[in-house]
Amino acid sequence: MQYDFVIVGAGFAGSVLAERLATQAGKTVLLIDKRPHIGGNAYDCLNEDGILIHQYGPHIFHTNSPEVMAYLSQFTQWRPYEHRVLASVDGQLLPIPINLDTVNRLYGYSFTSEELADYFQSVGEPVDEIRTSEDVVVSQVGRDLYEKFFRGYTRKQWGVDPSQLDKMVTSRIPTRTNRDDRYFTDEFQCMPLHGYTKMFEKMVSHSNIHLLLSTDFKEINKQLSYKELIYTGPIDEYFDYCYGKLPYRSLRFDHQTLEVSDYQPVSVVNYPNDHAYTRITEYKKLTGQEHPKTSITFEYPQGEGDPYYPVPRPENAALYRQYKLLAEHQENVYFVGRLGTYRYYNMDQVVAQALTLYKKLVGMESLQETIQS
Ligand code: FAD
Ligand code: UDP
Repeated sequence: MQYDFVIVGAGFAGSVLAERLATQAGKTVLLIDKRPHIGGNAYDCLNEDGILIHQYGPHIFHTNSPEVMAYLSQFTQWRPYEHRVLASVDGQLLPIPINLDTVNRLYGYSFTSEELADYFQSVGEPVDEIRTSEDVVVSQVGRDLYEKFFRGYTRKQWGVDPSQLDKMVTSRIPTRTNRDDRYFTDEFQCMPLHGYTKMFEKMVSHSNIHLLLSTDFKEINKQLSYKELIYTGPIDEYFDYCYGKLPYRSLRFDHQTLEVSDYQPVSVVNYPNDHAYTRITEYKKLTGQEHPKTSITFEYPQGEGDPYYPVPRPENAALYRQYKLLAEHQENVYFVGRLGTYRYYNMDQVVAQALTLYKKLVGMESLQETIQS
């Protein structure tokens, strides 16, 4: 059969586009993923003990976009959840992002917010131009806090020193002089009530969408007949690495179930300096599930493996631009998503990007129209 669209990848980018094209534009879609499941990296499932875990590490939904929120709310109810993270530093579990309590407890001070602002002023090292992930932190909180909370974590996570990474990586983590210990300050913060996979199931179950799992697009492309292609896998792989490989950072997930009901005080504890892993996640504290046992995941950063993180560095951005130029000259082929556009995007940003592409594909006027139609 000839499809209007083949979509490669059933993560957020691919599933949003499949849903819109099938249900709103009446297009026929073949949605392919090489993994045996939908949801991409946001996939969650019950493990053998019946605990809901995130197979590819903790996914916390947060957004400032009412449009994205309204769009996804068609497919799931939500559980209110504000994410809080502690970092294990010098034998204590301290709030990260760094806030008033972090500094007072770490050094035994009793600063007020105003005093902390002055303290940051005195220890921050001014930089002419904030270019790197080191500059961001050292200029705000000085070298000691940088070493304790950021340098080790970043070197583990990215395999390079923060001085070699674009400022946008550590800029994701703010510095606060108040006691707000939430990881995010977005207007909407919540988790899909029955999990991400259930939400994806609702998105892609439509008679116009044919789902093909455990199938690599490369293996079957020649046998397929379609008018347009949407590609959400790695853009360099699509072009057979003709300009060389784009670096991606990978992770090894060590999932464990413990015979105790409670493991750590919050859902995520970061380990900036100790251990080979960067963080431990305890899922019940994200999902609200009650269970006599508890499941946790250790994340071990890796150079090789599934591509999870585009690496924001100037030379990688330059290499991506070469692929992007090639992509722009393809007819009826569109690249979208974290891997398709080599961007360190959160889930909501990928949803917004996919809705924008849909709007372009069908020539619609406004994003608002896309959601309400
Ligand atoms: P993906 O989810 O990667 O989907 C791409 C899909 O394409 C994959 O399923 C892949 O199997 C498939 N594919 C690739 N090549 C082929 C091929 N040749 N043939 C067939 N299929 C193919 N975001 C947040 O907002 N909050 C968080 O807390 C958060 N935590 C994260 C934690 C980790 C450890 C990671 C790695 C990411 C996290 N993210 C988080 C980011 C989030 O995972 C992404 O923004 C989102 O999942 C990207 O969706 P996507 O569709 O672009 O890509
Ligand atoms: N980071 C850090 N220490 C921390 C938390 C974050 O150094 O305790 C840095 C690190 O470089 C990390 C980046 O900030 O990769 C972004 O953190 P975030 O929690 O957003 O990472 P993600 O959830 O995307 O893995």
